[in-house]
Amino acid sequence: MIAEVAVEKTQFAFDKLFSYIVPEHLAERVSVGACVAVPFGRKNSIRRAFVINLKEQNLESNLVLKKIDSLIDSSPILSPEQIKLVSWVSEYYLCSLYDSLSLILPRYVKNNEFEKKQDKSLPLNINLSDYQNNVYAEILNWFFNSEKKESLLYGITGSGKTQVFLKLAQRLFLKSKKVLILVPEISLIPQMAKIIEKFFGKYAFACLHSGLSNKVRSSEWNKIKNEAVNIVLGTRSAIFVPMIPDLIVIDEEQEPTYKSDKTPRFNAKEVARFLCKNYNCKLILSSATPSVESFYLAKSGKISLFQLKKRYGNSKLPEVKIVNINKNLYNAKSILSLELLDELRDKISKGEQSILLLDRRGFHTLARCSYCGSSISCENCSTTLVHHLVHRKNKLICHYCGFNIDVPELCPKCKNHKINLIGVGTQSLENEIRTAIPESKCLRVDADTTKSKKVYEKMFDNFKSGKYNIMVGTRMVAKGLDFDNVSLVGILCADQSLFGEGYKSYERTFSLISQAVGRSGRKNNNGKALIQTFSADNPIIEISAKQDYDVFFEKEIKLRKLMLYPPFADLCTIGFVGINEEKTWQSCLFFFESLKYNAKIKFNDIPIKILFPSKAFMTKLSKKFRFRITIKCRNNQKFRRFLTDSLIYYQQNSKINKFKINPRNKSGIHIFFDMNPEHLF
Ligand SMILES: [Zn+2]
Ligand SMILES: [Zn+2]
Repeated sequence: MIAEVAVEKTQFAFDKLFSYIVPEHLAERVSVGACVAVPFGRKNSIRRAFVINLKEQNLESNLVLKKIDSLIDSSPILSPEQIKLVSWVSEYYLCSLYDSLSLILPRYVKNNEFEKKQDKSLPLNINLSDYQNNVYAEILNWFFNSEKKESLLYGITGSGKTQVFLKLAQRLFLKSKKVLILVPEISLIPQMAKIIEKFFGKYAFACLHSGLSNKVRSSEWNKIKNEAVNIVLGTRSAIFVPMIPDLIVIDEEQEPTYKSDKTPRFNAKEVARFLCKNYNCKLILSSATPSVESFYLAKSGKISLFQLKKRYGNSKLPEVKIVNINKNLYNAKSILSLELLDELRDKISKGEQSILLLDRRGFHTLARCSYCGSSISCENCSTTLVHHLVHRKNKLICHYCGFNIDVPELCPKCKNHKINLIGVGTQSLENEIRTAIPESKCLRVDADTTKSKKVYEKMFDNFKSGKYNIMVGTRMVAKGLDFDNVSLVGILCADQSLFGEGYKSYERTFSLISQAVGRSGRKNNNGKALIQTFSADNPIIEISAKQDYDVFFEKEIKLRKLMLYPPFADLCTIGFVGINEEKTWQSCLFFFESLKYNAKIKFNDIPIKILFPSKAFMTKLSKKFRFRITIKCRNNQKFRRFLTDSLIYYQQNSKINKFKINPRNKSGIHIFFDMNPEHLF
């Protein structure tokens, strides 16, 4: 018997299924999905591989095949649906079969380690308002009758979208249908898990996300695989659950976290679309601030649109004020305005809570010499170090690679002047509030305070129970969280995301501000929000303050069309990463030549625009130099063939180096393709 296998660490341009003879003593135990060890390459080094296909040996063939070395795991864990998905992922995201298999077969999952438990009582009924009920009726009709497989549920913050899609999920659940619900971040899992538990029962669902221990992940995975549960809640990679859902819900679909920025660089939304196209499955995208791409699809009628334009229980949108912080600051070093301080004191005196958003971690954000003006940068990355207090010690830390040093007494460059620490981060904001408002009880939520997985849940519970009256945090406090007693939201520096996120920066700013503002006054009518900004007359800030999505969309879609950005074109980034700056740049240039040559000779009928190579947004990261080529294109099979073809041409003709796909190989240059990346490379 012959086994066709996907082998680890292959170069994707030359990746294919490799054939091996199944030795007789293994014949009964090797099945499709089994993990085996095979001798590979000229040196016959032993590599892991997954069996994708088994067939009879063709005795007339002259091919001399190697034998499978041994069996690592015999359990047949791949279904035909999963194999189909794997092939699609590797073709669509230009990665090896083994890499795409790694998504579907997460490591450390062992078969058959789960306890089947059942809830005794029937799930609680979800009560909707009349207004929600109307939208629910439309969705129900879409789900059972419409030809369209995809829909957008667009509802302003606090409108109760969650209850609406859960009501549909519950109805399907009672008919033993399968539902997958994705949230954009781990920090949102505890809140959603509680709601699902309330309406479906404690044992009715499984959770899949990166914060699970190996043991728990194995058990959750097997519960799903063995159909012990029909509801799955998870983050991005849970889209590869071992089941075909009848309904997929992607909550806050505009969030960039649904796109992976490591190989395979998949987007959970696109994988969901693949499942809908190939199986009996429907997709709901849910959002208060839909991505421009999704809203465009909805407006043009390609997908169905459902709208909730009123807040739940008639609570009103908060009253929003824009505060110009070129003046009116508490003191010269602060970014707290006098107005915001007054409001904070007022809310505390009324026993209400506030949330402050500042998207910068640490204490001071810059360490700069007052004499020569140089700031202290990371040794490994092209970024400045940020001041943190770590166990009462003054440290300068790189937010990208973790490099850190003690704060130096004197400037390392001119050696005779003192280093000034300037700029405000969440850590110093917390201190400042304690000084300015002695009666405040302040909780800080950022990546530094939430390192372990149980911490979010505890922090949010403590805030909910009223242990604190102010929560200070990075963007993780801005989204999706629901606290009844919050009546003030302060955004400390709204300008930040206006610059530097590429063509998506306006969309991100709009989304962040309107989401943050939406945390205020969710259960009563006196919600307030203060937006502090240096650019008070920027129209995007103004539109976001009003949460006027329609106006934002009309403005933005015109711009995207004019500039040929998504949804009017796809963007493909080709990244080059290497330890030697000159060699990396030269290979980037040569690849550019390969692309141009190939576009002219073999692929002159596809519409593309190849932009000249440039330095990456972060020019150096963890000691490696980074360059990029951007192509405006249509992402279809022909375009992907053009890329693979150009890569092969590059490899066969480049004299500069033989590039290695393995990033651990230090001398090589790593090249990757990224389709519609969410962040600027
Ligand atoms: Zn200096
Ligand atoms: Zn660094």
